[in-house]
Amino acid sequence: MGSMNELADKVAVVTGAGRGIGQAIALKLAAAGADVACVDLQADFCMETVQKIEALGRKAWSIGANVAEAASVEAARDQIIAAAGKVDILVNNAGITKDGWLMRMSEADWDAVLDVNLKGTFLFTKAFTRLFFQQESGRIINIASVVGIMGNPGQCNYGASKAGVIGFTKSAARELASRGITVNAIAPGFIETAMTAKLKPEAREALAKMIPLASLGQPEDVANAVLFFASPGARYITGQVLAVDGGMAM
Ligand code: NAP
Repeated sequence: MGSMNELADKVAVVTGAGRGIGQAIALKLAAAGADVACVDLQADFCMETVQKIEALGRKAWSIGANVAEAASVEAARDQIIAAAGKVDILVNNAGITKDGWLMRMSEADWDAVLDVNLKGTFLFTKAFTRLFFQQESGRIINIASVVGIMGNPGQCNYGASKAGVIGFTKSAARELASRGITVNAIAPGFIETAMTAKLKPEAREALAKMIPLASLGQPEDVANAVLFFASPGARYITGQVLAVDGGMAM
């Protein structure tokens, strides 16, 4: 992996690019030569990411959209295509947690997590399918989680959403393969971001004990795997789930 410009002339879309793993992905793809449309709930949340990409000499656009709302997603898609002219790589990264014990989990917390993590992935993928069909190419990379593979107490909503993302990835991979479009997922383990900073110290310790490589991952570890799936070298890979988790889910 890794000539400096392996994504030269490519355009990528990254959802949830304002911070955390999404920001690291956007920067990594830009460093490999791609121009990047950065999507977050509000356009100004991506200002920092956009400035960093522009400093790398690439183009970047800051797009506000709620991935869980079809009309918002379609408007973002139109805005991106108008600005960039095409899209080669879509990274569905936006995600939320609303943890709680099953017995006390509210319907609203279930719906919110499923809406952003699973429906958001569906809506954004659907929005770009026509363009990818016309181009007869496209790389779709969905950010799932080891929790979608292994489960985790207190995360029934999140685990269901991420297992859903994995099932969606495999069906879409089969459906879109004949058009030269690949769809893969990454299942990060325990990565240091705002999302995991919220964890209670006991939960942190329990999780850390489950990691064979004995340390937390960094957003860039996930970004490296995204770059691989987006790169020319991954052209023959589709429908796969790659764990980036220090060995947690093997
Ligand atoms: P994060 O720091 O909380 O960042 C999530 C990003 O998604 C934020 O920029 C957030 O925007 C955005 N977002 C949330 N809801 C959105 C919506 N409805 N529409 C558009 N954007 C939205 O989380 P992270 O740790 O980087 O996680 C990124 C992805 O990796 C998620 O899918 C997560 O489930 C997955 N993941 C993370 C870990 C981990 O250990 N951190 C492990 C496995 C998987 P705001 O700034 O407005 O909130």
